[in-house]
Amino acid sequence: MPRTPLFAGNWKMHKNVVETLEFLEAFLRKAKDVHGEIAFCPPFTSLWAAAERLKGSGVKIGAQNMHWEDKGAFTGEISPAMLKEIPCDYVIIGHSERRQYFNETDETVNRKVKAALKYAIKPIICVGESLEQREKGKTLSVVLSQVERALEGVDIRDGKELVFAYEPVWAIGTGKVALPSDAQEVIGAIRNKLSELYGARVSQNIRILYGGSVKPENVRDLMAEPDIDGALVGGASLDADTFYRIAAYD
Ligand code: PGA
Repeated sequence: MPRTPLFAGNWKMHKNVVETLEFLEAFLRKAKDVHGEIAFCPPFTSLWAAAERLKGSGVKIGAQNMHWEDKGAFTGEISPAMLKEIPCDYVIIGHSERRQYFNETDETVNRKVKAALKYAIKPIICVGESLEQREKGKTLSVVLSQVERALEGVDIRDGKELVFAYEPVWAIGTGKVALPSDAQEVIGAIRNKLSELYGARVSQNIRILYGGSVKPENVRDLMAEPDIDGALVGGASLDADTFYRIAAYD
C-alpha cells in the first residue's frame, strides 16, 4: 500500500496546557509499535506547548480550525501563518461541528483548504452525511458533493499534501460506529471521485480516514478495509492508553 496510515486525535474543546503535557508524557512512554503516523490536534491554547514537547518525537501536531486570511481585523480568528509558526503539520478543516454550530459552508471549507495548502499545512478535510440524509439514501451524493466543492480550483501536486476524513455525523460522539463495509463503500467512492478529478496516481496517494466512535474494539475491522487509511478519533483520543491501543491495534 502506498499510503502511510494516520491516526489523529481530535481533542475538541478539551485539555488545557497542563493536561496536554500530562497526556503527552503518558503517551510518549508507550508510543512504540504504532501503525504509521500519529497526530494530536489540541485546542489553540495548547498547540505551542504540545509542539515543544513533541519536538524530535516524530509525533505530529494539528490545529482544529483556522481562518483563510493571512492577517487582519478578524477578532477571535487564527491565521494559517500563525499555525505554521507553531509549527503545525495538519489542520482539521470543515469538521461537522464547525459546519453545524459555526456556519461553515463548502465555500469556507474550500477557502481554508487553499490557504492551508499555500502554507504547506496538510488539511484534514472532513465530510459526512447526517442521519436524515443517510435514511433518505443521499449519503453518496452529499459526501461526494462536499468533496468536490472542498476542492474547487485546488491544484494537487501528488496527493500526499492533503487528507480526507469521512465522518458520518450520526456516528460522531454517539458510540454508533459505521459498519466497516459501509465506511469502505463511501471511502471507496471518495477515492473514485478523487481519481476522476486528479487521476488514479494522485488518488492512490491521498489518505482517507474514517471518523466516528472509533475505539480499540472496532479499529481493526475498519483498518482491514482496503481504502481506510487511518482514523480521526475524538472521545477515545482523550485518554493516552486508549488512544495508544487504537494506533497500535493488532
Ligand atoms: P468521536 O469523534 O470519535 O468522539 O466520535 C470523532 C470526531 O469528531 O472527529
